[in-house]
Amino acid sequence: MLKLFRFVLIFVSFCVSNNLYSQKLSISIYNSIPLSTILVTPTQGQYNLIIGDSTYNLKVNQILYLSRLGDSIVVRTANQILGTWKRVTIIGKTGNDVIRVKPIVPATPARLYDDNLSFYVDINKILAINLIDQEKYIAAVVEAEGGYHRNPEFYKVQAMLVRTYTLSHSNRHQSEGFNLCDEVHCQAYKGRSDNNSDILDAVLDTKGLIIVDSANHPITAAFHANCGGETANSGDVWVKPLPYLVSVHDKYCTSSPSARWQRTVPTKEWFKMLADFGVDTSTVLKRDDVDFDPSDRPVYYTVKGVKIPVKEIRKRFMLRSAWFSVSLGRKEVRLNGRGYGHGVGLCQDGAMVMADKGFSYDEIVKYYYKGVKIVDSGTLDSLQLSTDTLEIPREEPMGPMPKPDFMDQDHRNHKPNR
Ligand SMILES: [Zn+2]
Ligand SMILES: [Zn+2]
Repeated sequence: MLKLFRFVLIFVSFCVSNNLYSQKLSISIYNSIPLSTILVTPTQGQYNLIIGDSTYNLKVNQILYLSRLGDSIVVRTANQILGTWKRVTIIGKTGNDVIRVKPIVPATPARLYDDNLSFYVDINKILAINLIDQEKYIAAVVEAEGGYHRNPEFYKVQAMLVRTYTLSHSNRHQSEGFNLCDEVHCQAYKGRSDNNSDILDAVLDTKGLIIVDSANHPITAAFHANCGGETANSGDVWVKPLPYLVSVHDKYCTSSPSARWQRTVPTKEWFKMLADFGVDTSTVLKRDDVDFDPSDRPVYYTVKGVKIPVKEIRKRFMLRSAWFSVSLGRKEVRLNGRGYGHGVGLCQDGAMVMADKGFSYDEIVKYYYKGVKIVDSGTLDSLQLSTDTLEIPREEPMGPMPKPDFMDQDHRNHKPNR
């Protein structure tokens, strides 16, 4: 048993350190849930359950319960207890294996996963690791973030963004023994790609391809829903300027529904904000002092000589974007905004329109990221891949990947962008 345990450990660490070459990734699933009892059921393919020195065949639809007992896991079927182990491994045999995971305690919705699973206790919870083919994982993330019914060329772009992020962040949880978690901390991963064959095709069509800068380092592949007609400089939004994250004029996204937004804010609150930023509001005597109508994407909103960063105003009022005009009324301030999201990097609405107009993934990527190259990740060494990228704050109120009906939602509790 010890031998096997070691083998599994080596296998996992191999995946952590060499995922690029082994093309397997280890992802901690239900990462924030204190898993205590889990129901596991193969739904497709053929699985082996490996516990201790024993290997069991698992049939499709066979039920397996895993429950934490101290630092071990009790394994039982529908009618018998198989025993208690430190580690439980479930390995797919056909390359086309799917397994359902349903946390019972605490009760959490079930999800389907491709490939292999491994379970062990970490302090006081079961850690569930999905050992998955890298491209299947990328397809699942594209789907979790990218929604449905998009143009195949757009999916290729999205697949490269996800792959670029995945490869440059695969050491993120190395000290914990896996590559990435399934949360917004890394990338939202909600189980296998849901039968959307267009996404998997796009991922396989771009297999291994990532986006790099002029020094062959993976780029910070920031993207957002809609730029409103002009993307933002990374230095204006996140302090750090990057040569490929520079403002571009975007004529493709301006007819999309999320290109424009309106909001009103009580005048009192607006003045409170002005005062908080150091404006002496007693000197504001006329509308012109407050009104604002930028034709280009602004960085500051200036009132009485005080420069207020628009990104701070966006944060304070949870605005869809940091590009808006201001029109003062007696009771309310009217804001007319453009775009949705932080505005840095690739504009998804624009990229979708470009794809529909027949532009290739290469042309789309190079339209939004300046001076970049698309290369096969296999040609880069691990040092180039592990280069520091700009860590983008992921707690923004609006996510990068609105589903088609997102206009109805004011604040999406979704992962923000890169
Ligand atoms: Zn993470
Ligand atoms: Zn745009």
